[in-house]
Amino acid sequence: MSDLIYLDVKTKRRNHFIDVTSKIQKVVAESEIKDGTVELFVPHTTAAITINENADPSVRSDIISYLEKLIPQDGRFDHAEGNSDAHIKSSLIGTRLSLFISGGHLVLGTWQGVYFCEFDGPRSRKLIVKIKSD
Ligand code: ZN
Repeated sequence: MSDLIYLDVKTKRRNHFIDVTSKIQKVVAESEIKDGTVELFVPHTTAAITINENADPSVRSDIISYLEKLIPQDGRFDHAEGNSDAHIKSSLIGTRLSLFISGGHLVLGTWQGVYFCEFDGPRSRKLIVKIKSD
């Protein structure tokens, strides 16, 4: 029996940050493990996962717009699929996160949320979750 949990994430734009904090918290709350860590893994080469501010949505749009300026889609790339910028953004942000769980709750700062980062959407994506005890 695999203890990996596959969550579905639907993205709606080419570059799209989706708050998945409540989805992950639900998995954590339903787990028998109340204290430990939750591992998050994005099994895609043009998406990523990160933690950032969940209060002001302009923080997310600023991150996206500056990533677009840093790595424009129409840059000069060898990869012929037209999504080299998305591959580079995925590697820059990263595809794996580890968070603490305490008393059945994710440990996050007051202003922090977990974001699935789409860079080549819209698509149907997966986010893999594994909960581990201390
Ligand atoms: Zn590609």
